[in-house]
Amino acid sequence: MFSGQLPSFLEPRKLADQEAEIKGQTTVARLPRLAEFRDSQDEIVEVALRFGRDEERRQCVSGTVKTALMMTCQRCLEPVRCSVEAHPALVMVYNEDQIKALPEHLDPWLVTDEKIILSELLEEELLLALPLVAMHEQCPTVLHKSAEPSAAAESKRDNPFAVLAQLKSRDD
Ligand SMILES: [Zn+2]
Repeated sequence: MFSGQLPSFLEPRKLADQEAEIKGQTTVARLPRLAEFRDSQDEIVEVALRFGRDEERRQCVSGTVKTALMMTCQRCLEPVRCSVEAHPALVMVYNEDQIKALPEHLDPWLVTDEKIILSELLEEELLLALPLVAMHEQCPTVLHKSAEPSAAAESKRDNPFAVLAQLKSRDD
């Protein structure tokens, strides 16, 4: 078993034959496709991957990739720290024909016998696991604003739906 510092490169098919487990940490800063999350570059990315074969003897990998990313709350537009947790369960395939032959509920992972770059797999999995809509459980600013009448009025003016409602009432 591998633990601690993650390797940069992996040979997934070899690891599957060895039934290897890889555990360790990296940071968001080391995943270039997550560079847009500028306030999250120091966040730890926890990785735990198990390689092996499934019941059909197909080489596969499963496990967890998790971190936290600052996103924009879709309700109050303030930053919100979202935990992002991916649970990859991938079956290794060599080519398009094997992808087509794979039962639909299985996720194919196109890999040859060559080494792969681990960070690319981690980026892909985390991007797929991003919440579709980021939101605070309770928006701090909304609570704050409703406590102040002047601020509440301001938020009404900024709200495009309120403007729309005004236009509509004018039409009536
Ligand atoms: Zn919010």
